[in-house]
Amino acid sequence: MDIAAILKEIDAAMRLSPNRGRVADYIPELAAVDPGQFAMSIVLADGTQLSVGDAEVPFSIQSVSKVFALALALGRLGDRLWDRVGREPSGLAFNSILQLEHERGLPRNPFINAGAIVVTDAVLSTHAPREYLGELLRFIRTAAGDDDIHINQGVARSETETGNRNFALAHYMRAFGNLTNAPELTLGAYFHQCAVEMTCAQLARAGRFLMGVPDMPRLVSPERVRRINALMMTCGHYDGSGDFAYRVGLPGKSGVGGGILVIAPGRASIAVWSPGLNEQGNSKLGTEAVEMLARQTGWSVFG
Ligand code: GLU
Repeated sequence: MDIAAILKEIDAAMRLSPNRGRVADYIPELAAVDPGQFAMSIVLADGTQLSVGDAEVPFSIQSVSKVFALALALGRLGDRLWDRVGREPSGLAFNSILQLEHERGLPRNPFINAGAIVVTDAVLSTHAPREYLGELLRFIRTAAGDDDIHINQGVARSETETGNRNFALAHYMRAFGNLTNAPELTLGAYFHQCAVEMTCAQLARAGRFLMGVPDMPRLVSPERVRRINALMMTCGHYDGSGDFAYRVGLPGKSGVGGGILVIAPGRASIAVWSPGLNEQGNSKLGTEAVEMLARQTGWSVFG
């Protein structure tokens, strides 16, 4: 199979696409990103990496960071983490507060904002925010095999300034006893984790530990790799998770910066980036590109 040719074809198709979705505009740093950009990068099981488009341009990984934060938290707390956050798809927007009242402050899963805030809060029971962020960056850098990965402080500041909904979620969960630290402290760390910047090429490398291939960096146990992939499949695209599973058939986690990390277990770690979003807040062209890739390669966890 000629993956390089497939990638070229996808890149060409995406460049021509007239409808690129809408760039997130809740903070100026994201609103200013040029929607004309597109990148895709793939690391194969033998370690070969192939990239097309703007694969060396750093972007805000936003909620893709929830995957790394979860892997880190499970390593620190083990299955105790599941006392505080569920594993069911939410069927609601990333920042919805609706379910929290019915479910008494227990967020549905670690990939919606409320769940990710609890995951960060749980790690902060044993780490100061600065230590936690240092450890998270170390985790991501080790996964990517690249130290040139940083937090964009301007983005973190803007997230804090516009984070009213996240503050509401945090206070609400604290009212139910499901947030142990002050909302300001936990959200300070959470906003910084959302503000990690990576290139598409770096993100594809950082996903290698989820491929389930022995030669790749082993940061978590094989059993945990399978479980993180299961959560990405069922919850990785907010209320668009079912549609992504149907169209692509691979686990993926998206972020409002327009990045998506997709894993083809045993075969590849794939990162795609295009800043324009669809209705559910997932990269529009990114989703179309991985759908095209899955169709052309036949990669799917469903056989
Ligand atoms: N920083 C965003 C928020 O918490 C992340 C959302 C996302 O990437 O989906 O609102």
